[in-house]
Amino acid sequence: MEPCCSYDVPFARRGSVLDEDDLAALTAVLRSEDPLSAGPWRARFEEDFRRYTGARHAMSVTSGTVALEIAISLLDLSPGDEVVATPQTFHATVQPLLDHDVRVRFCDVDPYSLNMDPERLEPLLTDRTRAILLVHYGGWPAEMDRIVELARSRGILIVEDCAHALGAVHHGRHPGTIGDIGCFSFHSSKNITTLGEGGMLTTQRDDWAERIDRLRSNQVDGVFTAARPAETATPALLPYMKYSDYIYRDLCESVRRAGTNATLSDAAAAVGSVQLGKLDTFAGRRTEIAARLDQVLARYPGVRVQNPAPGLVHARHLYTCFVPGGADARARLVQALDRRGVEIQLRYFPLHLVPEWQARGHRPGECPVAEHLWFEEQLNLPCHPGLTGRQVDRLVEALDESLRETYGSPGAAAWREPLRVPGAGV
Ligand SMILES: *Cc1c(COP(=O)(O)O)cnc(C)c1O
Repeated sequence: MEPCCSYDVPFARRGSVLDEDDLAALTAVLRSEDPLSAGPWRARFEEDFRRYTGARHAMSVTSGTVALEIAISLLDLSPGDEVVATPQTFHATVQPLLDHDVRVRFCDVDPYSLNMDPERLEPLLTDRTRAILLVHYGGWPAEMDRIVELARSRGILIVEDCAHALGAVHHGRHPGTIGDIGCFSFHSSKNITTLGEGGMLTTQRDDWAERIDRLRSNQVDGVFTAARPAETATPALLPYMKYSDYIYRDLCESVRRAGTNATLSDAAAAVGSVQLGKLDTFAGRRTEIAARLDQVLARYPGVRVQNPAPGLVHARHLYTCFVPGGADARARLVQALDRRGVEIQLRYFPLHLVPEWQARGHRPGECPVAEHLWFEEQLNLPCHPGLTGRQVDRLVEALDESLRETYGSPGAAAWREPLRVPGAGV
């Protein structure tokens, strides 16, 4: 098999490390007599996830994308409703909204965290706003206190895309438990993985948990009423009725949406439990690597690094920094890193400018901060527990060399230019 990439320091293809423990869990599943679907391993993973995050309900699905699709369908959007969304995220966050006849307002981001900026959010809220769709970019928790305050007073729902945020903490609480619903991803590249694909929904709401369970397990998300009390529905609940007793009992008044099969397999879930048990170790490694990168970048006064306020734990799914000199200088820096074997991937292209959202009327200039940062300053460096100590040393050395090559030594004139922070009025 061809190696998947030729870089000395690859960007994350796996965001976690799989080892003998994961293999042992898989062996145990295969040797057991348990069903491989909706069995005890899935139940245990969901229980572990509830305990870890403190969520009232944690319900696994086959991907983060499916989690978001389900979350968005729970919003019961009507034509003409409005949703405020972040433009700085993977396109799966907002993609399901293309299937709804709603107006999306993209809210510009904070120039350090790249999270939705609450100051820019408030003017976008109208009496048609039904929901806010945010991401905890790269694992830096969004400014939930302010956003929740703005939303609650207006009856607006909050969907948290937590695909990057497993391991993050917001003043003692985990992302996914602060808004109305949280969507997690266990894709290969994420902070833990369930064999390459997987996702989880978290919510405090019992009514939503019930609807999620229907949507993910081939039932119908409808409005049901019990026509007859359960005990009189059938003389005795016969085994063949076990999975469908509601058929004998309930009336369906209306159908909101057909369900699908989004059942995470028990083999994947068993690995999920092992991975979740190691999350703190993985997170510790990410924090160490980020600290090494911070240390090098601190020598260069024109580079901005991310430094969340006390009370916020950054999960470091992405290591993000901002470099000066405009698009050309950044391109030279990326090329210098590339020549030294460091793979750079920029995350993410401002979503309001991708063709499908431009087709819905979105245009350049709508989110100037997100646009400026993406086109000129933003840089994401490799930072994941799959990197060996030697690879991290190589990364740090290559970064230092590439910065000197591009801009001159830390004392050079280029570094004495005043720092421009977009949106900060400088
Ligand atoms: C990965 C990711 C998703 C989608 O998750 P999948 O499990 O790959 O479907 C959604 N949102 C963000 C921000 C992501 O990074």
